[in-house]
Amino acid sequence: MTPRILLHNATVLLTMDASQREITDGALLTDGQRILRLDSTDALLDWLAHKPQHAPTERIDASGCVVMPGLVNTHHHLYQSLTRSIGTGLGHSLFDWLKMLYRVWDGLTPDDLYVSTKTALAELMLSGATTVADHLYLYPNGCRLDDTIAAATEMGIRFHPTHGSMSLGESAGGLPPDHLVDTETHILAESQRLLETWHDDAPLSMLRLALAPCSPFSVSADVMRESARLARSFRGVGLHTHLAETLDENRYCLLHTGMRPLAYAESLDWLGKDVWFAHMVHPNATEIRTLAVTGTGVSHCPGSNMILASGIAPIRAMLDAGVRVGLGVDGSASNDSNHLLGEARLAMLLQRVGWPGFESDAQRMSAREALWLATLGGARLLGREQDIGSLEAGKAADIAAFRIDDLAHAGGLGDPVASLMTCAPAPAWLTLINGCIAVRDGVLRGMDMPQQIVQHNQQSKALLQRAGLQR
Ligand code: ZN
Repeated sequence: MTPRILLHNATVLLTMDASQREITDGALLTDGQRILRLDSTDALLDWLAHKPQHAPTERIDASGCVVMPGLVNTHHHLYQSLTRSIGTGLGHSLFDWLKMLYRVWDGLTPDDLYVSTKTALAELMLSGATTVADHLYLYPNGCRLDDTIAAATEMGIRFHPTHGSMSLGESAGGLPPDHLVDTETHILAESQRLLETWHDDAPLSMLRLALAPCSPFSVSADVMRESARLARSFRGVGLHTHLAETLDENRYCLLHTGMRPLAYAESLDWLGKDVWFAHMVHPNATEIRTLAVTGTGVSHCPGSNMILASGIAPIRAMLDAGVRVGLGVDGSASNDSNHLLGEARLAMLLQRVGWPGFESDAQRMSAREALWLATLGGARLLGREQDIGSLEAGKAADIAAFRIDDLAHAGGLGDPVASLMTCAPAPAWLTLINGCIAVRDGVLRGMDMPQQIVQHNQQSKALLQRAGLQR
């Protein structure tokens, strides 16, 4: 029987549709993988009374909840959940942090990838995430992107693995050690294999790939150019990389290419609606216009930008110019959490703070705008605004519900939607992915959580021991 789940009595149904409709005492009915109908609880129950063929197979009372589209994470490195707090606690900035961790990640095994992907995805799903783009760019000891795909498929999340790569080692002027980089021939052959094996461009796809050479300081120009050519020979394959994350990177690009990062990307045919860059902390006004005109997207990662002291991305200016912007948690070791609702809150807070050239301005980002970035903004970035990112009939039944009748939100019910951003970040009470219940009553289904944590910590300890960082 097709599962039809009725959520009813929601304090607010936050749709993120074109009219930004918010339905008080809202209800929503799913039909298999899709949303069938949404309305006020009274109206939907009345409609159901006349449509017995659509009778729900399960009813969930969502009173005391804000129900909204599942959150979309557009940039992450799930494997890094094995190396949280290494370097970030000391106060390292990006290049020093990377150089410290390359030697640890050198010891990663396929099983490490599998376990850490499951752990990080569990944390994300428990924060309301239903779609996750992951960026894996190093493959020591037989690691493959397939290891993360196996874990994500088992978890039942909508997954956008991006096949990263590094080809520019220290001896060629890059940042990573030579033994961690790959050859251009192998990178492109592996990219082709992965796209042919896994990429699914169909509506409601649970697995869609992108190619993602890591960054200007770890990848050769040829790999960037050829990856773009290869991705564009497939339908619906995106292009993703880190760009303009730090002033160090701006200086690196000027020194090695004679260009700023965005001009360098443009010279490699890396602008367009199929491209989204992680970070883009340091664009100038001309570059923001270029991003808008070409439809190139930006994944904003405020937590990472703060902990690594990368800077404050001018997201207000990007949105005003019409740049496509979504949110990313970034690496679990440069955040160091996997809480996407918390990341939306950081985006709102950080945007309000002043920095050289910008006065502090509390109106620079509202609570609702931060939630939009975490939902429809992210869906647009991944080219999926047709099937995810908002609560609308016909779209995927990817839904997150957060309780606002608890201690953390007491006194905040004058504006329940805003309270999700102004009060402490809430855990998801309910997460539906593709019409299936992934989280219920704040508990992730299908995972022995204590056992998962024990295993994850064992793998993490062994990884650090191999690098000589833990006895
Ligand atoms: Zn990143």
